[in-house]
Amino acid sequence: MNDSAKGAECDIITSAKAFCKQHLQPIARQLDKDGRFPEELRQNMAAAGFFGMNYPAEYGGSGYDSVTAYQAAKELAKASAGVALTLHVHWMAVDALVKFGSEEQKRCYLPDLLQGKKLAAYTISEAQAGSDAAAITAEAVLCGDRWVLNGTKYFCTNGGLADVYFVAFKTAPDAGAKGISMFIIEKGTPGFQIGPAEEKMGCRSSLTTSLRFTGCSIDSACLLGNVNEGFKVAMYGLTGGRLGMAAMGLGIAEAALELSVRGSGHAGRYVC
Ligand SMILES: Cc1cc2nc3c(=O)[nH]c(=O)nc-3n(C[C@H](O)[C@H](O)[C@H](O)COP(=O)(O)OP(=O)(O)OC[C@H]3O[C@@H](n4cnc5c(N)ncnc54)[C@H](O)[C@@H]3O)c2cc1C
Repeated sequence: MNDSAKGAECDIITSAKAFCKQHLQPIARQLDKDGRFPEELRQNMAAAGFFGMNYPAEYGGSGYDSVTAYQAAKELAKASAGVALTLHVHWMAVDALVKFGSEEQKRCYLPDLLQGKKLAAYTISEAQAGSDAAAITAEAVLCGDRWVLNGTKYFCTNGGLADVYFVAFKTAPDAGAKGISMFIIEKGTPGFQIGPAEEKMGCRSSLTTSLRFTGCSIDSACLLGNVNEGFKVAMYGLTGGRLGMAAMGLGIAEAALELSVRGSGHAGRYVC
């Protein structure tokens, strides 16, 4: 944590509460109905410093500790679980980049990702590879100094919204979890198509899409971490994601409790 953050540890939680009241609660229901995450909301969240609150100041983050950051994120989930999910998956990608990225990759992507100028997605899942992440079949083949990607991913949170996609591919098809590598792919790369948003039952302001790679050629510098060690990268990102889902669950539960208390005529007694 940097010095300014140390002295005011709870500021970001207070800001998150104020942000929700002013910017999120009034529109959360409509965003969920419409299945939309507006650009203006991303800009407001960026201005509030949410995208980089728990990352080092040297890359443009605010340096808050994780407990504080996840408490602030819980406040967002109380107002809109979908919006909190958007943030948590962004953080999963950033976690992996901070831990496994080369210095060049960090300098290239972290400042914009932490300031919310760019949004990230993190995708492992495929139609036949959910819980069993090592069963992915999308393949990356090294041709000279470029990787050529083929395959389809499902359930990509922030699909379409994100500018940068962290995606797992098989690089040694017969090696199971030891044959997976993680790549950083920018939106707009030829051969990389993003499907329409799925019609979900909840968290609809978080966009979920498929991703299709057809002969998508990327530079060898887009590899995140070592070749065939991507399963470790993928699981590392999921660790933060699990904390995020816990914070989201807590936020949803608190919101439900407060709403039920208010609804039963005890407004103000239990609601803080
Ligand atoms: C809204 C949403 C957003 C998502 N966003 C992302 C994302 O951004 N990136 C990404 O990579 N993925 C994402 N996912 C996919 C998510 O990671 C998968 O849904 C999850 O891994 C489960 O996989 P599955 O849906 O294929 O279910 P399955 O793996 O088919 O599991 C179905 C059920 O079987 C159970 N089960 C599975 N294996 C076993 C076993 N061996 N023994 C006993 N029970 C078992 C599971 O617990 C579950 O209850 C998202 C999913 C949703 C719904």
